[in-house]
Amino acid sequence: MKLIPSTLALLSLTALALPSLGCNVSIGTGGDGEDGTGGNDEVGDDGEAGTDGNDDGPEPAGGAATNLAIAKVTVNQGVETQVFFNGSDIAPTATGLVRDRHALVRVYVVPLADWSPRAVQAVLTLEGEQGTKTYESVATIAGITAENDLDSGFAFEVPAEDLPSDQTMSVNIYEIGDTPYPGDSSQSSWEGYEATFLPVGPLRITVVPIQYNADGSGRLPDLSDAQIATYVDTMLGMYPVPEVELTITAPLAWGQSITAQGQGWQQLIQFMAGYRGTLGLSSDEYIYALFNPAESFQQYCGFGCVAGLSSLGSDPGNAFLRTSIGLGYTGEQSALTMAHEIGHAHGREHAPCGLGGQPSDPGYPHAGAYLGVWGWDGPGGGVLKDPNANTDIMAYCSPNWISDYTYGALLARGALVNITGASAPEVEPGTFGSWDTALLDKDGVVSSWTTGELEYSPSDDPQTSRYAVRLLDEDEGLVREVEAELAAFDHLPGGILVWPSGGETVRAAEVQGLGRLER
Ligand SMILES: [Zn+2]
Repeated sequence: MKLIPSTLALLSLTALALPSLGCNVSIGTGGDGEDGTGGNDEVGDDGEAGTDGNDDGPEPAGGAATNLAIAKVTVNQGVETQVFFNGSDIAPTATGLVRDRHALVRVYVVPLADWSPRAVQAVLTLEGEQGTKTYESVATIAGITAENDLDSGFAFEVPAEDLPSDQTMSVNIYEIGDTPYPGDSSQSSWEGYEATFLPVGPLRITVVPIQYNADGSGRLPDLSDAQIATYVDTMLGMYPVPEVELTITAPLAWGQSITAQGQGWQQLIQFMAGYRGTLGLSSDEYIYALFNPAESFQQYCGFGCVAGLSSLGSDPGNAFLRTSIGLGYTGEQSALTMAHEIGHAHGREHAPCGLGGQPSDPGYPHAGAYLGVWGWDGPGGGVLKDPNANTDIMAYCSPNWISDYTYGALLARGALVNITGASAPEVEPGTFGSWDTALLDKDGVVSSWTTGELEYSPSDDPQTSRYAVRLLDEDEGLVREVEAELAAFDHLPGGILVWPSGGETVRAAEVQGLGRLER
C-alpha cells in the first residue's frame, strides 16, 4: 500500500500519524528531505551524438588511440550492469540483461601517462541475431570518466530492436585525424565479450477505470493519451521487460466510498481479485484499478492519504495475487504509485526509507533504500539517476528510481511469470475454481464474505498464515471444517482470506481466533 502523508509541505512525514494501512510515500518535504517533485539527475544527456546504429561500419579517421585505457564498460537498461572492469570481463550478475530492451552502453576511460587531452572516437560493435551493428561516439577526453557525466567518456544508446539476442560486444577507440600520437595502444580496445541477454515476456497490465459513484459524480480517472503514456513510460523505465502492454477495460461502476484514511480500499481490491477472473485475463497479467475518489488530488489528499494498495505476490504461481489498485489523477505520481503497487504484486516488500516504524524487506542491501548503482531512464529522455540521490521505488522516500536489488528481483519474477513469444511461463497457471473470500482487516476483524470463480493457487509456503474455518448450517451444525489461507496486503497485518467453496448451503463461518461471518 501507499500512503501519501500530505500535499506539499503541509505536514512533515514524521508528524503524520494516519490510521495506517500501509505504505507512505512522501511527495512533500518530509521523508528524506528531498523535493519529491523533481530531483531527477539530468546529468549530461547529450553524450549520445553519433551513436546511431550503422550497418556499414564507421570510418575511423586514425589508428588505435594511444595512452588511453578502457577502464570499465557497462550496459544500463535501467540499472547499470558492469561487463568489463579493471582489465577483466565480468559475467552479468543477477541484475541481468534483457533482450529487446533499450540500453545505454558506457565506456569509461582512464588516461595513461603521456596522454594529451584530445578528441577521440569510440566504436561499439554488437553482433547478434540483428547482424553486426556499429555505433560511434566522439568525446574529448581530459581525465578519468566521471560516473555522473556522459560526456567525460563514451556513451552509446542502443535501441531495443538492436538487442534481439545474446550479443558479442567489442569497443575500439581511434584517433581522429592524421596527427601521430606515439605510445601504448594496447588498452584502447576490448573485444569479443559474450553478453547474455535474457528473453523475458512483456509486462501485461489490465487497467480497470473505476467510475466512482459513491459521491454521485460518476468520476473517471485520467485516461488521456498523455497520462497513459506516463504510465507506460514510467513502468517501462524501471521494470526489466522489453515492453509494457497496458490494456484499458470498460469502466466499472463502484458505489462504495473510498477514503483518504483507508476505508473502502480493501473492499475494492477484494472485488478486483475476483473481477480479474470474469475478464478472462491470462495468468501472467496484472490487474490494476484506477479511481479518483474526489475532484482533485489536493481535495482527496490534502491531509495525507492512502494512494494505492496491492496484494503481496509472495507466490509467483498465484495469479490471484497479481491484483492492485491506486489513484488515477493526472501526473507522474499516479504512475509511481502503479510502479510501487505492482512491485508488491511481484512479491517486493518495502525498501527501508521513511517507513515510520513499519518493517522493510530484510534482504534490501543498501542503507537508506538508495539504489546501489547508477540508473538510467531511457523512456524519460535518457536521464541518469544518481544512486545516492534517489531511493528505490519500493521505499516511501522520494525521488524514486529502481535499485539493482529490486530490478534483479523483478527480472527473476518476470522470467517465471511473463509469457514470452518463444516460451511458456515456467509457473503453472492456476485453475479456476469456486473459492470463498473474506477480508481480514488490520484489527483482526473479518468481514465481506463472498463466493466466486477465482484463479487461485493454494500456497505451499509454510510462512503463509492459515486459519481453521468452521462452516455452519442454519441450525449451527458443522457442515465442514476447512483451512483458509491469508493472501496478505503488501506487508500489513490483514489481507484476503481464501478457502475452497464446497457448494453446500452454509449460513455462517467461524474463523479460528478471528470471528464469525454470516451470510
Ligand atoms: Zn507499499
